[in-house]
Order: sequence, then C-alpha cells, then structure tokens
Amino acid sequence: MKAAICTDTTSPLTVEDIPIPAPRTGEVLIRTAACGVCHTDLHVMKGEVAFPLPCVLGHEVSGVVEEVGPNVLNVKPGDRVVASFIMPCGWCSNCTSGLEDLCSTFFAMNRLKGTLYDGETRLHRPDGRPLSMYSMGGLAEYCVTPATSVFAIPDALDLVDTSILGCSMFTAYGAVRNVAELHAGQTVAVVAVGGVGANIVQMAAVSGAERVIAIDVDDDKLALARTMGATHVINSRSVDAAAVVAEMTGGAGVDVAFEAFGHKDTTRLATDIVSDGGQVVVVGIPAAGTQLEVDLARVVRRKIQIKGSFGAKARRDVPAILRLLASGKLDLSGVISQRVPLAEAPAIYQSLSRGEVLGRAVVTMGA
Ligand SMILES: [Zn+2]
Ligand SMILES: [Zn+2]
Repeated sequence: MKAAICTDTTSPLTVEDIPIPAPRTGEVLIRTAACGVCHTDLHVMKGEVAFPLPCVLGHEVSGVVEEVGPNVLNVKPGDRVVASFIMPCGWCSNCTSGLEDLCSTFFAMNRLKGTLYDGETRLHRPDGRPLSMYSMGGLAEYCVTPATSVFAIPDALDLVDTSILGCSMFTAYGAVRNVAELHAGQTVAVVAVGGVGANIVQMAAVSGAERVIAIDVDDDKLALARTMGATHVINSRSVDAAAVVAEMTGGAGVDVAFEAFGHKDTTRLATDIVSDGGQVVVVGIPAAGTQLEVDLARVVRRKIQIKGSFGAKARRDVPAILRLLASGKLDLSGVISQRVPLAEAPAIYQSLSRGEVLGRAVVTMGA
C-alpha cells in the first residue's frame, strides 16, 4: 500500500510503498477512504512534540472495514466506518472510571512509543524496519486500530467527509459538551477558527449559545466561521480583540472562551475576554513546554476557571455526534475546503504550516 512517511523533522513527508498491516485481537483493518489534515501532525513533523520516527502520521480517518481480528463484535467487513484519534484501551483505570479521553494506555503505548497495546507497531518498511503509528497511522491506504475507536456510520453520510469526525469534530464536541458543559443562552468566544475552531463554533451554536464570537487573524477563516454559526467576528490583527469583546458584552466578557490554536498569546487573549466566574477552555495543542502567564489575582478573585480539553469520550461521544450529523443538526462538509490525493499529502501539510488551509483539508485514498 502507499503511505505518507515522516522520516525526520527537517524534510517533507515521502509517499512510499509499505506492506498492508494485519489486525490482531480486538483490532480492525480499515481500507482508508480519507484522512483529515490536522495541526497536531505538524507538531510531530516539526519536532515540537516528541514522537519516535520514522512514523506514519494521520489520526482522523474514515473508510471501509477490510478485515477484523479475533473478538471484534461492533463492526464487520464491508461496514463504512469512522475512527476516533483516541483509541481507548477499555481496561485502564481511567477508561473504567469513564475517562476514556485520558486513557493511560493510549498515552503510554501510542503517544509515547508509537505502538498499539501489545507494544508493537503494525507498520513496517518492506525490509522489516518498524514505522511508528501516530494513532492508527491514517495517512495510508490501509490502517489498523483497536475496535473501541471504530464506529459504523449511517448510509446518508458522505464517507470521505465523515473523516473529520475523528479529530476536529470529536475534539470540538468534547470541549463544548464535556468540559465547558455549555448552556443555552450563554455567550461564547472562539479564539482561532481553523479546523477545530470552526467546529467549536458550530457545536456552540447547535448547543444554544446566544452569541458566538469568532476571533482570528484571517478574514477568510472568519467568513467561514460565520457560515458555521458565528454571530460576530473579530479580526484581532486589525483591532484590539479584548476591547471589542468588552464593548460587545457591556464590559462583562464571555461566559466561555475557547482557545483552538495552542499558543500562549491566543490563550492569554482567551483569559482576557472571559467574564467573572467564566471558563477558559484550552483546546489547541501547544508545543511542549509552552508556558502561560496570567494575572493570578484576577483568576482567584474573579473565579476564572482555566481548563484543558483533549478529544472526547470515544464510545459515548462518537455515536452522539453521528446522531447529530444524521439529523442534519451538524454540518460535515462546510468546514472542508480541499480534498487532495495521497500524493499531495506532503504539499498540503506545508500549506497548513503556512496557515493557508481554510477550515479542514482531507487527504483521499480512493477507497
Ligand atoms: Zn487532530
Ligand atoms: Zn484506557
């Protein structure tokens, strides 16, 4: 099969032929239809997040089940499926206490070692040298992932476009539903409206936010955010965003400020625009070691809550998102600006790195 391989942190991805992986117990082999292009992959490519190389990146996939290993009951060959980037093990203490989004096996085995849960990768070069897997290693024509992360999708949903459920929509849902616990009538700001931010905008709008203020430095991204449900947009390059939010809210600030870029300046802006007792929900993945300076006295005396949000609870939340999509309450394709073949994967990540991708781009494999 063809796969996009990240060999080191200084060169672009290379598309190479490698053997098709085989699923083991509790695992599913997916013939990949599409894989979303996510900023988190870029962090690995640039060495901002440590990960064993060489590897196959890509963690937001849809496709068709090709084969299942022993003890897989939730999907079968031929099913059209989507896979979440968090692959809950199901047995660690976090999973068993309902914190699948913090699955400690996922972090220890996949995010630190690039393997699945028997400690081995399923991907190799033709000569047998191992390739690490970032989640399922979705930038390839086939991928293997634990069945706990695989969900059959309704016939009405487009197979390629559903790929973005696996990270950007999943992450947006987790931030709005699980961490912010947004209530109807609340006022929300979303700082940085790329792929995840645009999905937070629509998730907040669907959840009944009275005002959804999108803040970005790019007018095209702000225009997209409007189509996703933003009621107000602010270009923070041309105006003082904190002052504009203060004016819009009568000096109060917003109930919830989401940060979806992963930078100290955007997180600082989110803390500046939140109301007394309000929540700052940090969703963007920063480079390792990034520090935030905040006015601690304000945090204490105005009861500002600063919360991290990572993904969502796969087995509970993916079916819920699929129901929202099937009912037409969420839009899948509006956020997707480009669909490119695997051969163009190296170039599209370079475009993403230059900030040129509007919403989400997806890499298609032709399945
Ligand atoms: Zn992602
Ligand atoms: Zn677990």
